[in-house]
Amino acid sequence: MTHQRGSASLVVTAALALAAVTAAFSADLSRVAVARTAAQTAADAAALAAAQELVRPTGRAPPEVAAEYAERHGARLVSCVCPSEGTEAVVTVTRVVTLPLLGQTRTVRASARAVVAAPPGSEGLQPFFASRLACLFDRVDGLWIVSGYRTRAEQAALYEQKPGLAAPPGQSNHELGLAADLGYAKAASEDAAQAEAAGCGLEFPVPYEPWHVEPAGLP
Ligand SMILES: [Zn+2]
Repeated sequence: MTHQRGSASLVVTAALALAAVTAAFSADLSRVAVARTAAQTAADAAALAAAQELVRPTGRAPPEVAAEYAERHGARLVSCVCPSEGTEAVVTVTRVVTLPLLGQTRTVRASARAVVAAPPGSEGLQPFFASRLACLFDRVDGLWIVSGYRTRAEQAALYEQKPGLAAPPGQSNHELGLAADLGYAKAASEDAAQAEAAGCGLEFPVPYEPWHVEPAGLP
């Protein structure tokens, strides 16, 4: 009897020990899961902040902004593929998680991608120019793109229609995806677009064409 009782309590003890290990393991596992979610939140925030820097440039480098947002969310920026002349930001962050019950630390990793929403009609324009237009559209209400990228044939047809206004085929920045003609809902939109252009890296290079916008500083 005694022997049997002893065996029984040994089994119970073993079962309890196993339960404790399992509990510890699942507690630490849930810490990993929580850290994963937190790392993903940090990656999302960092990618959005870097992409925002493309649309609303404050003069800081997008990776620097991404690093700051990652840190704010308890993570560390590993990489930011977010060129200031591009239309997207792809970031990877890591977050260290301590597993006290298992006596370990683990590093979890998360990535996120944020894409600048280019204005309708910017298809075919060079990506950095589309980003700059997104910046202008973000600052000024009542804008739209009347004419953006044009093929050589489209430019030729336009030149035939309006030889005084359109450049001859082969000589328009529209064909290079480096010019857009804007529509203005009201005079105030036009004034605001002219005023905000430089802040978005844009210019209206032709005085008698106040709708024709290009990236600033083209050769
Ligand atoms: Zn034009």
